[in-house]
Parts: sequence; structure tokens; C-alpha cells
Amino acid sequence: MDASTLVGLTIHEARMLLDSRKVSAVELTRAALDRIGQVEDRLKAFVTVTGDLALDQARKADRRIADGRAAPLTGIPMQLKDNMTTRGVPTTCSSRMLESFVPTYDSTVTRRLYDQSAVLVGKGNLDEFAMGSSTENSAFFPTRNPWDLDRVPGGSSGGPAAAVVASECVFSLGSDTGGSIRQPAALCGVVGLKPTYGLVSRYGLVAFASSLDQIGPITRDVRDCAIVLNAIAGNDPRDSTSLSVDATDYTAALESGERSLKGLRIGVPTEYFVEGMDPEVEASTRRSIALLEELGAEVAETSLPHTSFALAVYYILAPSECSANLARYDGVKYGFSDSEAESMWGALEQTRGGGFGPEVKRRIMLGTYALSSGYYDAFYLKAQKVRTIIRREFERAFEEFDAIVSATSPTVAFRLGEKTADPVQMYLSDVLTLPANIAGLPGISVPAGLSRDGLPIGFQILAGALGEETIFRIAHAFEQASGWNGKSPDL
Ligand code: GLN
Repeated sequence: MDASTLVGLTIHEARMLLDSRKVSAVELTRAALDRIGQVEDRLKAFVTVTGDLALDQARKADRRIADGRAAPLTGIPMQLKDNMTTRGVPTTCSSRMLESFVPTYDSTVTRRLYDQSAVLVGKGNLDEFAMGSSTENSAFFPTRNPWDLDRVPGGSSGGPAAAVVASECVFSLGSDTGGSIRQPAALCGVVGLKPTYGLVSRYGLVAFASSLDQIGPITRDVRDCAIVLNAIAGNDPRDSTSLSVDATDYTAALESGERSLKGLRIGVPTEYFVEGMDPEVEASTRRSIALLEELGAEVAETSLPHTSFALAVYYILAPSECSANLARYDGVKYGFSDSEAESMWGALEQTRGGGFGPEVKRRIMLGTYALSSGYYDAFYLKAQKVRTIIRREFERAFEEFDAIVSATSPTVAFRLGEKTADPVQMYLSDVLTLPANIAGLPGISVPAGLSRDGLPIGFQILAGALGEETIFRIAHAFEQASGWNGKSPDL
């Protein structure tokens, strides 16, 4: 098997090759590493490539397959976003602060994927500490969009989305605080799911905004997404916000929607056709909605009037939580330390001054301000109250509808540098994704088509809490009918 055979390969296709012994896990892993060798210079989707570890894990996977004990992900080459801890493998958060941090423990998601003998080929680039929408905030290098190398892959999980669509790995995991799985998935033409808050353990995910962060799969198709969610979902006593839910086989939900979405009620909030939306994205979204109707769903317009406050609420709450979470980087406990200074305060100032990039500093300052005495009530507390209003508005909407749909991102992939000078323009990339984080709800982005310039457009499907099965049913039916068929960029 050579690298080109890997192009476009899904988990379920790779599973058949492995189980029928047409290919070994070692061959598959070598193919992934070769592919990384071919395209990585141009894409920069990886912070670390773990070639030796991967081959070692692949050999173990082959033994497991030979013993007839293969799990769904045994021998499948994967990447993990570089904010999930991996024992013995650097976990940098694409920050100078953690550049030399080698964790002594695996995150729960890493452990669960290793338990299935999935093969780690490397760690994915991200905006520093997952703060951003373009991967340009990585302290190391930006990742390029495989469909057009002058454009961003989205962010903050830009490395994972680019690596998956470029077939440098078969799947990856991202984290989504305000859109960081779904927006890059949309901009790169892959599937990205943010699960219900608490469905996937955050143990070992380097915290950005703990009440919003959630890990989820980035895959080439909806079936793969369900397979990966099966592996990582479920209660974890190490995460106190983890939900107690019964194990579910999410792939079972795919079959039910194969032909029809009859009986499903789908809401289209008028507010999600935001001002400044790219007309091609709007047209694609309207076509996608019409397709759901053709598939038998009952589609109706609805209104979520408090959506317009979601962006403001997010940019109070996320920075506030980040300012507390990032206080631990003091030069004593983790990674980077600048201890040349005379005093403790001097060392702290130099460590944090030199270890964090500009966007991270901006967030820490915004958050510290919003939490400071005298401003707490006016900003943080008020944002929490509006959060409750947004959450209730969704709850009411989901009494009426099984799902709510919209575009994932108001635009297609933008050019590198296009939005870096204006943080607010960058923040607007997530206007359609972050309400789901505020309300803790699941949402997926599925590819809906290509723009005239050949850039992917994503379609977002949201459901009520623990509505992943509904999401998979709709997303799968949509995918089958959309004719997307796992398109790949020419590289
Ligand atoms: N782009 C948003 C931000 O910068 C969301 C990031 C994320 O989901 N991690 O905060």
C-alpha cells in the first residue's frame, strides 16, 4: 500500500481492509507517515509527528487483529489536537508556554482510543490554547487550508481538520469551546461534531473555558464520526462535569435515516442568516434545507431572538474562565519559565510576558477585567444571566423541533492575514456556532458543497441535550443525498 491508496480512506473502509488482511496496521501507518512526508511541508497541520511510536503501536494493533480481538479503531492512524495530553508525547497547545511540556499522563480520550489500539501519528496544530478561528494564533506556524494554500483552515482545530481532509491521518479529535471543531470542519470539507457538554470527558484536555469546552471527532464522513464518538463518549469519574449516560451505539442511528427523514421536525431560525453572510453560503444553506424537506422532514421557520447576544456573552464568559484557567502558568509548575529576574514577581511577569502570544494575553486581560471587583456584576454576572436566557430559548425551541439547522460559518475559508488585524472580525467567524456551547448542546458540521472557487461550505445541525442520535440520523441522510461523497482536494 502506498500513500495514494490512503487518500480519501474512511475508518470503516480501513476497517474492512484490515480485517480482511488486505492491509496491515503497519502498512496503513507507513502510508499515513508517507503522506505526511509528501504534504506536510505545505500544510503544517502537525506540531509533532510520532513516527516511531506509531509504528510500535501499529505492530501491537496487528497482533490484536491476528488474535481476532480487533476493536472498531484498532490499527487506524489518528491525530489528536495538541491540547489533549499524551503521556510521553509533547502537548504544547501551540504555545511557547508549553513548548517543552511532556505530560506524565494520558487524557481520558487518548486512553480510550489507545484501549482500542488506534495508532497515534501525531499532534495537531491549533490556535494557541484554542483561542482563535484560523490557526494563525499558533505560536509555531499557521496551518494552510488544503483546498487553497493561501487560505486558513479555520480554527482553532485547524490542524486536525486539514490533516483529515488531506488524508495525513484517518481521523482526528478537536475541541470546541465556541466553534473550534465545527468551523474548521466546515472550512476544510470534513465532518466535525461537538457533543453535548459532559458527554465526552475533559480530563486531560488543557482547559480554556471549562464550562464551554468539549472534545469531539473530526472525520471524513458521518459514519466515522459515530464510530469515534462510540469510543470516546461516556462517564468518567475523573471529570466532575461528566454525565452519567448509558453506553450508546451511535452507528445504529445512521440506518434509521437512510431513506427518509419523515416525522422529523426541523427549525430554521431566521436570525442565523446573519448580516454579512457570504451569498454563496446563504444559497448553499437554503439548498441544504430544501434537501431535508425532500427527504421528508417537516421544515419550518422559527426565531431565536437572543442569538444576537450570544457573541457578547461568549466573549465575556470565555475570557473570564480563561483568565482563571491560565493563572497556573506561572513558570513554576509547567513548561516555559523565565527565571532570570531578580524577584518572584519579576519572574512571573517575564514568564507570562514571554510565554503567551498576543491573543492569549488579550483574553486574559479581558477576563481579568470582567471579573474584577466593581465590574463583575456588570459583565460576568450579567453574561451568566443572558446565558440562562439563551439556554431556555433553545429548550423551548427543542420542544417544538427535533433539530435546528443553519450554515456553520458565515463565510468560506478566508485568506491568511485577512482578519488578523481585527479581532472582532475574527470573533464573528463563530457567530453561528457558539450559541450551542453557551447552551451546552450538541452540533455537527457536515460538508454541503463547494463554492465557485472550490472552497468547502458546511451545514450545521443542532439538537437538544443528548440529541446526538437525532443529529447522526439527519446528518447521515443529508450526506447520502448531498452527493458530496467524501471529496478531497488535489495536493
Ligand atoms: N474562535 C473561538 C475563540 O476564539 C472559539 C474557539 C474554540 O472553540 N476553542 O474563542
